[in-house]
Amino acid sequence: MATNRTFTMIKPDAVADHHIGGILSMIEQGGFRIVELQKVALSAERAGEFYAVHRERPFYHDLVRYMSSGSIVAAVLEKDNAVADFRTLIGATNPANAADGTIRKKYAKSIEANAVHGSDSDENAQIEAEFFFGK
Ligand code: GDP
Repeated sequence: MATNRTFTMIKPDAVADHHIGGILSMIEQGGFRIVELQKVALSAERAGEFYAVHRERPFYHDLVRYMSSGSIVAAVLEKDNAVADFRTLIGATNPANAADGTIRKKYAKSIEANAVHGSDSDENAQIEAEFFFGK
């Protein structure tokens, strides 16, 4: 995948609270083109696989339980400098530290239920997009 793509998920809390539309709107207003889009419920096994990189972290089991607690929306996004620009648009992991105007500032409830995922590198964007959408 080219460096102009990133991967996102709208997390279960935001889906359950009817924020799919609001978040997709912020994404499009931020200049991103939605290339792929899918609403799906992750099993605990699939969620654990997605977050395997975090398996040694103390919050891993809570994170897997949370990410499999309801539907998510997965998407591939396109824009110049997509990975970095999308991290800016979503804001800090902990919404208490998220800047004004970011998706997490507006929609996140806690450091865990923080509304959206955004890939942290081009390499992971490609791996994560393939996890949901194949090659
Ligand atoms: P991100 O790249 O900003 O999503 O943050 P990380 O890669 O560090 O963490 C992945 C996800 O794990 C976050 O988006 C949160 O949903 C969750 N998470 C991160 N830190 C914590 C924490 O300290 N406690 C809990 N319960 N969840 C966390």
